[in-house]
Amino acid sequence: MGKRVFYIPLAGLLALSISAFLVFSSVLHNWLNDYSTRALEADLNGMIQSLKQQNPPTQRESLTLFLQQQRLAYPTRHFSLFSRHGDLVASSRLNSVGSMTNSKADNPPEINSATAGNIGSNQRINPTDNQQTLFVAKPIAFEGFQGALRISTPTEVIKRIARDLETMVAGLLFTIVGGMALLARSLIYRLDRHLHSEQEQLEQHVENRTREVELLQRLANMLAACNSLSEAQQVVQDIVPRILGDINGAVSLMRSSRNQLEVKLDWGGDWPGANTFAPDECWALRKGKFHLANDKYTTLPCSHMRNVGEEQTLCIPLIAHGNTIGMMHLYMHNQNFCEERMQLAFTICEQLGLALANLTLQEKLRDQAVRDPLTGLHNRRFLEESIDHELMRAQRNQQNLSILMLDMDHFKRFNDNFGHDAGDYVLKALSSLLINGVRGEDIVCRVGGEELCIVMPDADGDRALQAAEKLCHQVRDLHLDFHGQSLGKLTLLIGISTFPEDAEDYQSLMKMADVAIYEAKENGRDHARHCNKQTMQKHQAVSPQVAETLRAISEKAQDSPQDGALDKDN
Ligand code: GH3
Ligand code: MG
Ligand code: MG
Repeated sequence: MGKRVFYIPLAGLLALSISAFLVFSSVLHNWLNDYSTRALEADLNGMIQSLKQQNPPTQRESLTLFLQQQRLAYPTRHFSLFSRHGDLVASSRLNSVGSMTNSKADNPPEINSATAGNIGSNQRINPTDNQQTLFVAKPIAFEGFQGALRISTPTEVIKRIARDLETMVAGLLFTIVGGMALLARSLIYRLDRHLHSEQEQLEQHVENRTREVELLQRLANMLAACNSLSEAQQVVQDIVPRILGDINGAVSLMRSSRNQLEVKLDWGGDWPGANTFAPDECWALRKGKFHLANDKYTTLPCSHMRNVGEEQTLCIPLIAHGNTIGMMHLYMHNQNFCEERMQLAFTICEQLGLALANLTLQEKLRDQAVRDPLTGLHNRRFLEESIDHELMRAQRNQQNLSILMLDMDHFKRFNDNFGHDAGDYVLKALSSLLINGVRGEDIVCRVGGEELCIVMPDADGDRALQAAEKLCHQVRDLHLDFHGQSLGKLTLLIGISTFPEDAEDYQSLMKMADVAIYEAKENGRDHARHCNKQTMQKHQAVSPQVAETLRAISEKAQDSPQDGALDKDN
């Protein structure tokens, strides 16, 4: 069907035109016949009038001459006089009386009517000239004559007029229908082109929307699967530019203190805005809704975007669970934000807000689960989770790993003498000293009350002992001032055990480091000591646990003689 439907009215118009033409033609013929008949009748009346007025002699010749001389008779219009018996008496067409003598009309119908006293008319082929002719006859009576007067004229003239009029009307109709056909065709062509381009645009639009929906869905899924902000950074960096196009963007998150925002994620090149800023520096945060720095009404850039001047930037708050958790910032270089892109940015913000809130919460919970809240050090759980991994890595890389167990000498005294808060302060002071004093790859944990542990990957016994002695020295030099009051000296006991030379499993290594502490405590405190087999043997008598550890280590050493670390001590 399609666009052909537009030709239907045209076909209808054509059919209508043909029908109208046929009707017109028929009406025209009838009208022309009527008109011609009436015109002939008028001429006939004129001739009757003349005959009556002039009363010509009734001889045939005189009458013929009379008829021929009348103005109304001319080559295409003939008058004939018939007797009341229907015999031809005279005719404007005849020029000799002789030719009329036998002229007996063949009872033409119009003459029959006229002699009967009526007006008669008839149309037929005239045998004289073999032409279709219109005859009209009327009764006539003048002095000495009674009969009928007939007028005749070939219908060819009427037909010619009809043909001319028909040709004119047909031409007009043809022009109208043809013009309309051309107009319709041109309209259909334009409409077709318009529809085609509209359809293409629509298809493109649908394709773009489908792609955006797919990407937004992927963004949501991937963000939900992220375990850390660095993973979220990868996801955002990959997917967001595919949705928003080649623009520079960043996400800043509100710190828990809620007095500062920090840029945590960015994409599309180096972020030109400030990396940390106060909430007051962002108009969007102040307003509680998005802020377009440069629109058709105002030019009000945010302070944290001062580096980009008055160029187009868009800040949108990230809201989750009713709280503003951060902002998404977009920087358009020299372009402007279209409404469509802004809507997409809002949708992305909705997803980012929730995902980042969940992620931050997840990270916080994970951190809380593996950190000691007082000192900020990792806790025993973290130690137990990571030590196996560290031991495996050491084994794979054929490296040593040392464990340093730390115990504060007479720590209880700080609590007893200065109060629990002072004890807490000492714990925190020691923790920060340890964090600053160890290498980046070392793991510092608080395993119990005043007992700490340092895991030192890639450190043999000697290196660990050196590091431990250095720590003892640093702690000895620590000035502990709590609320302006000196708490006195703090000293440490450090017990060391080393993988694989002392033992290969975590439990044994911890027990050996413990025994080393015990040994150090017995030998004057305030120093570090590396566990050895003699120490273990010495203490196995007092502690069944030590004896058990020693037995386990010996069994292992027999299984793998090359790792006979304890034999080395012997
Ligand atoms: P030693 O020299 O033999 O190791 O004795 P010590 O006093 O250091 O150790 P002890 O095991 O006798 O006492 C440890 C004390 O540490 C007991 C406990 O009240 C205190 N403690 C444990 N956890 C905390 C804490 O979180 N804060 C404070 N202030 N004290 C704590
Ligand atoms: Mg203790
Ligand atoms: Mg102690």
